[in-house]
Order: sequence, then C-alpha cells, then structure tokens
Amino acid sequence: MRVLVVEDERKTASFVRKALQSEGFAVDLCANGEDALATATTVVFDALVLDIMLPGRDGLSVLRQLRAAGNAIPVLLLSARGEVDERVQGLNLGADDYLPKPFALAELVARVRALVRRGGETKPPVLRVADLALDTVTRQARRGERLFDLTAREFRLLEFLMRSPSRICSRLAIIEKVWDYDFDPGTNLVDVYVMRLREKIDADFPVKLLHTVRGVGYVIREPA
Ligand code: CA
Repeated sequence: MRVLVVEDERKTASFVRKALQSEGFAVDLCANGEDALATATTVVFDALVLDIMLPGRDGLSVLRQLRAAGNAIPVLLLSARGEVDERVQGLNLGADDYLPKPFALAELVARVRALVRRGGETKPPVLRVADLALDTVTRQARRGERLFDLTAREFRLLEFLMRSPSRICSRLAIIEKVWDYDFDPGTNLVDVYVMRLREKIDADFPVKLLHTVRGVGYVIREPA
C-alpha cells in the first residue's frame, strides 16, 4: 500500500510518514502542490494525504486538477483550524475525507486505512440480473430497451439487492444498508420502496425479478 503525503510543514510531514510507515505503508513525500501533481499523475498510489495550505499551487487546486484528469485516487484533506470553507470546497471537489489540524496520528492512520480499503474494493460499474442492468456510475437502470429514472433511495435499494442476487435480504438488513438506520423504525418503509421499485422494473414485464419472501424479506433473482 503506497501513500503520497503532501505537506509543507517538515515536522508534520515527517511525523505522518513515520506513523504510516510503522503501520506498513510505503510513503512518498511532497512539499508543494506542483510536485504533488507531477508525482500523483506519474506514480500509482493507494491514497493521497493532501494539506490544503501549500506554497504555490494549493491542495484544492491539486485536487481539482487530479479529478479533472479522471484520477480517482482516494484523498484525505488536511486543513488548518478555521478553514471551513476550504473543507467544504474540498469535499465538493471530490475529496473523500478531511481531518482538521491538529490531529492525532492514530486517527490519521485509521482514516488512511479506511480510504485505502474503500478504494481497493473493485466494484463492477454495471450490475446485471437477467435483462436488468444497473449502471452504478450514471445511476440509471435499464431493462431491455427501457430506461428507468430512480430516486437516490430507489437506486440504493436496487443496488443493494443486485449486489447479492439470489440472496434473501431481510427488511432489517435493507434498513441498515439503504437507510443507514441501526434500528427498526417499525414502519412499512421498506415495503413501500420495494413496491415503487417493482412498479418501475417489473410491472410491465412478464418475467418478474424482484420477489417477496414472506416474513423474511426480499430477493432479486434470475428466473429459474
Ligand atoms: Ca501547510
């Protein structure tokens, strides 16, 4: 696992490097934005730790350039106290996480590890079950020639079901993964959304893909 750390404060850079190295990461250091951009575009890293305030080209500019060039490297922004606007701007530009200074090294290492883990998940961009396809980049669903527009929640629900075709997903698992609740709201929320999804992807087709398993949950599967 290789991490690029971009930080002009030498002491901080050296602490961060040591902390990451002791956790098994290979670490490269850059002290300004121009070097960072050049290094990040020529070498493949698993994560980028990017300070916002840098001499010359700042961290946000580096991030903007990388994303504009289609570079999807996971980015953890470091921001000084009070740089709230920059933080928000950074997240809008496609940073994955940020850490305000001063930070504990243990926290930085934990955040970097989480980023690397997320970045390392190779998820296929298009999920398929029978003639139903879900493009996780454009967030469009298609069945045969028909395109469906999905709301954000419908998309998450369909994605969750399609990531494990033929596996029965309980209502509680759906609530946890699609709504991020760690409790059962005790409503028919899931059933209502499944019904809406069915209206779109199944109603007009003779072969149904989304099935109810009574008393348990839902499953999406290829027809036998
Ligand atoms: Ca700095």
